[in-house]
Amino acid sequence: MKLTEGVKCKACRTGKLFKNEVSQKFEREGLEIEIDGIPAFVCDDCGQAYFLPGVGDKISVAANDLFKLAEVKHAGKFKAAV
Ligand SMILES: [Zn+2]
Repeated sequence: MKLTEGVKCKACRTGKLFKNEVSQKFEREGLEIEIDGIPAFVCDDCGQAYFLPGVGDKISVAANDLFKLAEVKHAGKFKAAV
């Protein structure tokens, strides 16, 4: 599926996709982190987010770095943007 604006959503088959930024939360061993500003195409009907190729890898790298930081600092919540 080609990701462009106006493409029909695969999940609900009624909504259309538009470019947006989303945030994702991750939890690991009681630590919670959040990554903001992830570029994605989001359905205007059901809210399903579709990530561009390669973005998933960036998110997991950023999440791993944040978890490492969170472990060192022993604090509750960390945020980052990609
Ligand atoms: Zn949808």
